[in-house]
Amino acid sequence: MKYFLYLLVGNFLLVLISCESRQATEPVRPNILFIFSDDHATHAIKAYGPKANNPELVDFLQTPNLDRIANEGVLFTNAFCTNSICGPSRAVILTGKHSHFNGMLNNDTTFNAAQQTFPKLLQRSGYQTAWIGKWHLLSDPTGFDHWSVLTRGNGQGSYYNPIFTEAAGQQEETGYTATLITDKAIDFLEKQTGKDKPFFLAYSHKTPHREWVPAPEEYDLYKDVDLPLPSNFYDEYENRTSATREQEMEIAADMNERDLKLIYPDYMNEEQLAKFEAAYGPENEAFREANLSGKELTEWKYQRYLKDYLRSVASMDKEIGRVLDYLEESGLAENTIVIYSSDQGFYLGDHGWYDKRWMYEESLRMPLLVKWPGVTPAGERVAHLVQNLDFAQTILEMAESPIPGDMQGRSLVPLLQNPEGVKSWREYIYYHYYAYPDWHMVRQHYGIRTDRYKLIHYYTIDEWEFFDLKNDPNEMKSQYGDPEYQELVNSMKEQLQEARIHYGDTVNLQPTSKYHR
Ligand code: CA
Repeated sequence: MKYFLYLLVGNFLLVLISCESRQATEPVRPNILFIFSDDHATHAIKAYGPKANNPELVDFLQTPNLDRIANEGVLFTNAFCTNSICGPSRAVILTGKHSHFNGMLNNDTTFNAAQQTFPKLLQRSGYQTAWIGKWHLLSDPTGFDHWSVLTRGNGQGSYYNPIFTEAAGQQEETGYTATLITDKAIDFLEKQTGKDKPFFLAYSHKTPHREWVPAPEEYDLYKDVDLPLPSNFYDEYENRTSATREQEMEIAADMNERDLKLIYPDYMNEEQLAKFEAAYGPENEAFREANLSGKELTEWKYQRYLKDYLRSVASMDKEIGRVLDYLEESGLAENTIVIYSSDQGFYLGDHGWYDKRWMYEESLRMPLLVKWPGVTPAGERVAHLVQNLDFAQTILEMAESPIPGDMQGRSLVPLLQNPEGVKSWREYIYYHYYAYPDWHMVRQHYGIRTDRYKLIHYYTIDEWEFFDLKNDPNEMKSQYGDPEYQELVNSMKEQLQEARIHYGDTVNLQPTSKYHR
């Protein structure tokens, strides 16, 4: 009896202790800051390190704040989009579904805002949700307690003096857009301290989308240096399909005067224009006098383009630094997951190009950095094949919210917790690009990529490409017809069909005749 009492009292104490300890360590669901940008290539982030076709470029990059996220968290070396164009990538992220299921195949489609998205589910599970900055889906944001999004140019926004649309109406504001977006993000964060609800904030930049306009502080960055040229800058588009020869995205042939700042950016006021003129005017004058041609002209365009692109990235990085600093100073950092990504990659003179769209590495690859205090190991690099398709499920799991069965990705949480422990993962990623005819005239194509090989079908012209990325990381020669690879090509064709069935993609299966384009 005495023993039983001891046991009873002991158990009671145990219950008390466990109640107490649960109260003290009651897990608070984390805040999630999703920092997003537009067309930011991984080879324009220092933390990603040197790239094979232009190894010296990394020395010129100024991304200390993005590097800070990478150093304190996880950097995904193989994160890919499913459809390398702005609106569609955003729709995939919101829904966790491929373009053919979320309905947004190209930029001209209006996103069906009535459908299921992860912010709506977060909101339902008790999160305070907000989207600030570039949205670009034409329909108004849904699933957010607060939103303030760029409006001009079909949702592209402008680099200076933007118009923001909110539920309450529209307002034009004066200043550099990345700074104004950041002010709004910090303002939102300030209102979160002391609230009992966790938050999800998408802090979303227009930068570094075309036409790449930096803040005045960066106008003179790289002024007296020459940036290195990629080894395949003068690609002649041999040994691949006719699609590579047909495109209209060459720095040499397709950049316009606005891209090159020979026409000054829109929407600047007098004071802003005067600063811009002071920095760019003398160089433009010298350029016009020099009357360049051939390679000299092409390389002048490359320098002007890439400097402006990287200056814009440096301007954005500074702004991101302000938000990271605010998280630290306010104490929010402790329980806030920070994610950085961009809707897709971009060509920085690789293949002589700018823009995106292709399933080639530079535009297929997305940056993905995740810092989750207490969970992610610092400075870890993860090489598993992941996609923007996975973001919705990942964020829902981070927020301990139920994941609906109709989402098509995979939560990355196990990779964030213990990448070495994840032995079984997807063997390939699936891609489908639809927007043709469209800007830059890149043919429709779909394909799969494993950790080493890539198979692409330009199905409207029934042409194929196959790359061995280990031997040919810059994708200069398709091995599609090479007998040595025949068996592998055949098995990857089977995998491609398997992928199309798995993801329920039956759009545009029939190739049209080569002779009736
Ligand atoms: Ca984009």
